[in-house]
Amino acid sequence: MFGLIGHSTSFEEARVKARSLGYGEFADGDLDMWCSAPPQLVERVQVTSRTGKVIEGAYIDSVFVPEMLRRFKTAKRKVLKAMELAQKSGIDITALGGFTSIIFEDMNLLREERVSAVELDWQRFTTGNTHTAWVICQQVETNAPRLGIDLARAKVAVVGASGDIGSAVCRWLQRRGVGELLLVARRPQPLIDLQESLGEGRILDLADALPEADVVVWVASLPQSLQIDTGSLRKPCLMIDGGYPKNLDSKAAAPGVHVLKGGIVEFWQDIGWQMMEVAEMAKPQRQMFACFAEAMLLDFEGIHTNFSWGRNNITLDAMDLIGAASLRHGFRSLELDPALAPSPSLAPA
Ligand code: NDP
Repeated sequence: MFGLIGHSTSFEEARVKARSLGYGEFADGDLDMWCSAPPQLVERVQVTSRTGKVIEGAYIDSVFVPEMLRRFKTAKRKVLKAMELAQKSGIDITALGGFTSIIFEDMNLLREERVSAVELDWQRFTTGNTHTAWVICQQVETNAPRLGIDLARAKVAVVGASGDIGSAVCRWLQRRGVGELLLVARRPQPLIDLQESLGEGRILDLADALPEADVVVWVASLPQSLQIDTGSLRKPCLMIDGGYPKNLDSKAAAPGVHVLKGGIVEFWQDIGWQMMEVAEMAKPQRQMFACFAEAMLLDFEGIHTNFSWGRNNITLDAMDLIGAASLRHGFRSLELDPALAPSPSLAPA
């Protein structure tokens, strides 16, 4: 059995959802009330692989909302209590979605093995980052040529290169072969370490990297205040918006700049669930975050272990394995709308 731990994208949206599910007192409650509310197992589903294999899963709402991010103790408790509920519900492998994996890693919750009387078994959880990294790489591979971008000669900037997903994307792109890797993050030392381990890549500030890049992979949570000078970007430019929240389409909107939601996959058939309605997916019955899909894939494959865990541990072998499983069980990486992308013959060289 697989599990997904998620949350609403805002307090307001969470209240609307609570009302629609019949939780009137929550819908009317203030943020303090929500801070003390326990996690809820809101939905159970059955999912059928393209191979015919059927698995069962459950969605747990952590009752966390981004407005709680600054309330550190609350955020931490929300994630741990949701994990406790997943474990108590007998779920074999659960993905930490949205902010929950970021809170887990940033607040070093590995130290918090015990929640109430329950000892958390880390083997039952995955961040889902291996599949997310693989999907983002597929999105680069598939969509860049559609814009007339030759990856073998292209400059690819990875914003968040020293992070868990970013470093995996860099290793994959290096093996694939691109013109040049531009490595972007705020702290220099992790970038220098990455550059040394890759044996290539140029470290740049974001402002210097953007005008050079044919492709930009965003795998960092970016401040709302970030502004992009779209006039200085190369055209065409492919931007894969892999961070959370996904807020690049408005910031980088310009002719010739193509923004694709990164780390999103589409299943081969409708799932018949409600949970993605709130995640602003274009096709909520089929589309989902790749990290959620990783829990399904691990369950389909019978791999009940913390496949993606800790920081900067993602190997190319693990990406290849989860990528092959993704295709086998009927997932497809989200692509640019063919109607919006120019045909390669029309795109500038
Ligand atoms: P990590 O914390 O491991 O890495 C974050 C990286 O971003 C680091 O390199 C960090 O380096 C860099 N960074 C952070 N802030 C900035 C900034 N303002 N400007 C430039 N670089 C920055 O995170 P993960 O790799 O686990 O996740 C990366 C992103 O992907 C997150 O936003 C996460 O929510 C998202 N994600 C999306 C998924 C999906 O859509 N399917 C699934 C899982 C995660 P430094 O601190 O030195 O700047």
